[in-house]
Amino acid sequence: MKESDMIDHRRLGRELELFVSDPLAGAGLPIWLPAGAAARHAVEEYVRDLERRAGYRHVYSPPLGKRELFELSGHLGYFADDMFPAMRLSADDEFVLRPALCPHHALVFRARGRSYRELPLRIAELGGMYRAERSGVLGGLSRVRAISLNDAHNFCALEQVGDEVREILRLIREAHAALGVRPAGFRLSLRGPGEKYVGDDAQWARAEGLLRAALDGVDFTEEPGEAAFYGPKIDIQIVDAAGRESTISTIQLDFDKPEKFDLSYTDADGSRRRPVLVHRSLVGSMERLFAYLIEVHAGAFPAWYAPVQLLLLPVDEGQAGPAVDVVRRAEAAGLRAEVDVAGSLGARIRDAARRRIPYVGVVGPREVADGAVSLRLRDGRGLAPMPVADALRLIERVVAARSGDLLPQH
Ligand SMILES: [Zn+2]
Repeated sequence: MKESDMIDHRRLGRELELFVSDPLAGAGLPIWLPAGAAARHAVEEYVRDLERRAGYRHVYSPPLGKRELFELSGHLGYFADDMFPAMRLSADDEFVLRPALCPHHALVFRARGRSYRELPLRIAELGGMYRAERSGVLGGLSRVRAISLNDAHNFCALEQVGDEVREILRLIREAHAALGVRPAGFRLSLRGPGEKYVGDDAQWARAEGLLRAALDGVDFTEEPGEAAFYGPKIDIQIVDAAGRESTISTIQLDFDKPEKFDLSYTDADGSRRRPVLVHRSLVGSMERLFAYLIEVHAGAFPAWYAPVQLLLLPVDEGQAGPAVDVVRRAEAAGLRAEVDVAGSLGARIRDAARRRIPYVGVVGPREVADGAVSLRLRDGRGLAPMPVADALRLIERVVAARSGDLLPQH
């Protein structure tokens, strides 16, 4: 066994019952179990809230669409190798599983006439998309065929692009800090040789100039050949436990899709202008994000997205009822709590540690008599018995602050 196997997210995912990959469902199509789903739900809620407060508008769109939509977007011309084959319903009705959300979001922009007053129009969705990855490269959550992407498409006037990209970089840093993501580096991904790119040289040069300017003061490397087929991008890289590098956050400039979809808005002087499209993801796909988070935290997530935040352990059967009452109060306060009554107290404490549960509440006869609970923290610290209300408030404060520590920081 290599050192990296010790923190392999696939092994921890199994042990902590976060997700399962079943060959009957198919390679690269993992199933999120209740514990993994609870953690992901907390992260999704956080990201949506962060975006809402930053002026994003969320939409829902289907993960498949007519072949013509992806012919128009250029995906079938430039990206078909990464897509599943089309599904034919009848001679003139073919559908494809989408490889990206942008075509649907272009239709959101086009749903009615747009004015310069609405720009930047930020359309966000945590949506499903599909990639026909070869089975040999699939593993756990890091490379999958069904992807849930934290995505947005920001339609801007050209002169707004610089500020918009800088603001996206700020949101990315905020999200990384809350989740515990430590980027390995920033990358400016540029066009390489070959025919797999749309648009003319002038567009590419202008887009590259805008991204370079937004990166002023940031350390970054340049990677020719890593651009999207429609434009250059800023990629924020992470490294997994096995040392493999991948992209977690991205900001991409696109002059092409607004052209292809004939998008326009009415400017202040009444003229029609074409918006610039900024594709961006703050934290990437939920799959790749969690593959990384499981490894970087070795399964011990910050309390705010831990699957179970508080586990109540009655010392013996006599305190089972009061322990369940504490669980109910914790749940009413918005916390994820459970009770464990089976087996010796020592074995249950060890099992809570194995599950990386941040707070264990021990309830013995004395605690019941006093309406108290004794908290033990995941890192080994133990707190003196305190009233149940105080214990719950302590956990609530740590969760609300999205702190990496288990005690409130004044
Ligand atoms: Zn896009």
